[in-house]
Amino acid sequence: MSRYWSRVVRDLTPYVPGEQPKLPNLVKLNTNENPYGPSPLAIEALRAEIGDTLRLYPDPNADRLKEAIAASFGDRGVGPRQVFVGNGSDEVLAHVFLALLRHERPILFPDITYSFYPVYCGLYEIAWNAVPLDEAFRIRAEDYLVPNGGIVFANPNAPTGRFLPLPEVERIVAGNPDSVVVIDEAYVDFGGESAVPIVSRYPNLLVVRTLSKSHSLAGLRVGFAIGHADLIEALERVKNSFNSYPLGRLAIAGAVAAIGDQGHFERTRRAVIASREALVADLAALGFEVLPSKANFVFARHGARDAGQLALALRERGILVRHFQHERIRQFLRISIGNDAQCQALVAALREILR
Ligand code: PMP
Repeated sequence: MSRYWSRVVRDLTPYVPGEQPKLPNLVKLNTNENPYGPSPLAIEALRAEIGDTLRLYPDPNADRLKEAIAASFGDRGVGPRQVFVGNGSDEVLAHVFLALLRHERPILFPDITYSFYPVYCGLYEIAWNAVPLDEAFRIRAEDYLVPNGGIVFANPNAPTGRFLPLPEVERIVAGNPDSVVVIDEAYVDFGGESAVPIVSRYPNLLVVRTLSKSHSLAGLRVGFAIGHADLIEALERVKNSFNSYPLGRLAIAGAVAAIGDQGHFERTRRAVIASREALVADLAALGFEVLPSKANFVFARHGARDAGQLALALRERGILVRHFQHERIRQFLRISIGNDAQCQALVAALREILR
């Protein structure tokens, strides 16, 4: 704290990301990264981009990437003018909060969801109401059919992994024609159903996506949003008042190539889904209750053992998982899906700890 700080900065409660350890050889299941590497075509494209042209600024509009993203949705009515790109979906979300969610009325999001949302509210001085998930940690559409300044939630939700079926999402969107409904689909490729196909029917629907999870590119920082051109224009206005070049030449080149490699995307996401189903069975056999997950992580609590202590005991064995302090979920662990060796190491360590 310093007298030079602005009032907004004094009052901020910043987001705390999961640990990125400096130690090698840890089994890292704490930040929902993909256990498989990115597409070899993306790596090749990144290498090819390294050269003399790095002295030049990148395309401020990343048109090549917007076209690749629009094309990846086939004939679902997405054109480049319905696409916004940013430096990770965190940056996209930040612009969304300022551009589309800062109104008179409080915005709504679940009490248990991505914990960055209240941080953006603090940064941009947006009032919010937390809407409790039901007792099974599900989003209930009818809870969102009340006056609001906007709605945002992750689907599949984080850190629960639970997926709200598309007809329920559509009920929320159709029932709120006067506010923007933002669906954060960071994890949708692991078994959920995207709301992108209904974007063309709803001018108030914005879908936010990332290449960090299902495209194994958390280190490159590329996220995007799909919505009506008027919503995208609002985001461009904020972006062009903040940073003209949020994506570098490497990010644009790598992202375009990764999106073009459908085969790698399919193989890796299917492998993650298969490992998740195996891990759910193993955890259940060890006495965990595991919420049904459509994400690249599971959310689980043990009937008899404290989650904080389990996380510590795992850490002592070189395995990182995520434990949250929020009242309602203090007895849960969020475990990212690793490769088979990582999942086996986790299960073996838990078996030993629980013995
Ligand atoms: N949304 C959700 C629900 C997330 O869990 C994350 C990852 N922390 C993000 C968005 C941000 O991802 P990124 O900035 O890497 O695109």
